[in-house]
Amino acid sequence: MAATLIDGKAFAAKVRGQVAEHVARLKEEHGITPGLAVVLVGEDPASQVYVRSKGKQTVEVGMNSYEHKLDADTPEADLLALIDQLNNDPAVNGILVQLPLPKHMNEELVINSIAPEKDVDGFHISNVGLLGTGQKSMVPCTPLGCLMMLRDHHGSLSGMDAVVIGRSNIVGKPMAQLLLGDSCTVTIAHSRTKDLPDVVRRADIVVAAVGRPEMVPGDWIKEGATVIDVGINRIERDGKNVLVGDVDFASAAERAGAITPVPGGVGPMTIACLLANTVTACCRAHNLAEPEGLTA
Ligand code: NAP
Repeated sequence: MAATLIDGKAFAAKVRGQVAEHVARLKEEHGITPGLAVVLVGEDPASQVYVRSKGKQTVEVGMNSYEHKLDADTPEADLLALIDQLNNDPAVNGILVQLPLPKHMNEELVINSIAPEKDVDGFHISNVGLLGTGQKSMVPCTPLGCLMMLRDHHGSLSGMDAVVIGRSNIVGKPMAQLLLGDSCTVTIAHSRTKDLPDVVRRADIVVAAVGRPEMVPGDWIKEGATVIDVGINRIERDGKNVLVGDVDFASAAERAGAITPVPGGVGPMTIACLLANTVTACCRAHNLAEPEGLTA
């Protein structure tokens, strides 16, 4: 393997350490403990795992964790009432409603009912607009984690050619905005992009957020490029269940300058950035200085 491995697991541990330090300082100097509320509707097994993991890591960095579990058939009005209550609770600095929601609920309506300053997922339309216009916002966790790793590896991203494969609201679009904010020349590719291999070959930075196992082969990667693989795909290989990314790691690592593995790359950074966003939201709520390096 020629590429440097970008170790998201180690980086996430460092971010959690910075969050924990800031939380300790908030408690000591101001008597404030940041709080994160996570709302889970229904019993989707993957969502249950995520919510448990978020709660555990929230407590580990010294913050208060509030978990709200609602039945799958809860009326939408009840969920909106809970969000209203959390919006008005000063002990809660961050609110995350675990997606996907059951079919009878309108996800956009639910997300946009969260107070923007507590929207630690960064999905509220106000935060999307603030990010798009280069203003201070809550930044979606997964792209924020990717940006942190890229900044750490390169220092300045200014002038680099970046290709983001995927245009979802939760990863592709905010990732492109963040790269643009750091003065990259950004191309957003998607399922209708013509000649994707050629588009990717131009890139100094490739962020793959597609959801197709090992779709990007090594010969699409420019020699020395940095590859950030957001994909999490469960496949069967040699009779075993394994996790793979959207990039064919083995062949891409032969050409890339640096690459994130799956698992152990972008994944661990997402929850670390959720904690970072919560401490940032808490500082903003109290008009206190924000921790350095924990937001875009
Ligand atoms: P999504 O909403 O399904 O979006 C996928 C995007 O990929 C769409 O924009 C789609 O284009 C594009 N696409 C599909 N097939 C393509 C092709 N053949 N060529 C080029 N583009 C293609 O997915 P998402 O929510 O952004 O997630 C993407 C991946 O990241 C998934 O594997 C997901 O599990 C993973 N993920 C990981 C984390 C983490 O913490 N590491 C967080 C979130 C997501 P169209 O718009 O044209 O359909």
